[in-house]
Amino acid sequence: MFAHSDLSSTSFTTGNTPGRGGPGNTHASRTGFYHLNHIKDIARQHLPNNSWLQARLRANVNINSSCNAFWNGDTVNFYNAGGGCRNTAEISGVIVHEWGHGMDANDVSRGISRPSGEGIADVYAALYDGTSCMGRGFFSSNCNLKGDGCTDCTGVRDIDYMKHVSGKPHTMQWSNANCGGQVHCVGHVYSEAIWSLYVRKFPQLGYDDNTSKELTTNLLYKAAGNVAVWFSGNGNSNGGCFANSGYFAFLAADDDNGNINDGTPRECFSMTSKMLLSFSICLVSHSLFSFFGLQYFEKT
Ligand SMILES: [Zn+2]
Repeated sequence: MFAHSDLSSTSFTTGNTPGRGGPGNTHASRTGFYHLNHIKDIARQHLPNNSWLQARLRANVNINSSCNAFWNGDTVNFYNAGGGCRNTAEISGVIVHEWGHGMDANDVSRGISRPSGEGIADVYAALYDGTSCMGRGFFSSNCNLKGDGCTDCTGVRDIDYMKHVSGKPHTMQWSNANCGGQVHCVGHVYSEAIWSLYVRKFPQLGYDDNTSKELTTNLLYKAAGNVAVWFSGNGNSNGGCFANSGYFAFLAADDDNGNINDGTPRECFSMTSKMLLSFSICLVSHSLFSFFGLQYFEKT
């Protein structure tokens, strides 16, 4: 029975259509439509009062260029296949990454986060796809982060430091030494921390994979909206330990009584209520974000 067009065996990645459905019937438009609506549904569950998520979002696909995509402050835009790259509106990670810039720009703390909005866009995409390899299939070979190659990712970036040749976190100090301020590189400082929360920290506390992912996702949507500056890499040795940093936004999102100084449910999983935390001892004792701690709060 021929019930519908079988598009699986054909390639229309440069904007061609299968000959039916009109000029808009392309792989890119369908894939983009699906993933953008799906991520908006997910986000609305966490942020039911966000007006941007209620509004229509325009996506332009099959743009006559290659190897990129972008958020222009109002719309998401995706290039055709070519130049050794796939059509970027056919890669869910890239689609959600660009949407993530829109989410970042239209959350509680308006505007793209500093010092890089790329990390948060990568995390939205990675948690959506369930893989640290953001935009798998973008390239024909593994990605490379300033000489620290990805071991299993043909995407644009891999935000799991364990899947780089070095196996070491790309910390604030590493970023200052290697990124030259390039925002996609700088974003690794905190995107890797959040990803590690999912794949390492929560499992260490006994949560299974699904629960860890859901907890991380929920905290992310609550926390990220309030973050204007994830960390400060301008030579301040306390990089992330200021009141409105990404670190404290996550603690506040996890909090249940309006006071993060007495711990938060998961952060204080193994602590007694009498172990009141101060901002100073948070630098060394927070279990939830000890990875954040390593990256942001190195005091020596
Ligand atoms: Zn981006």
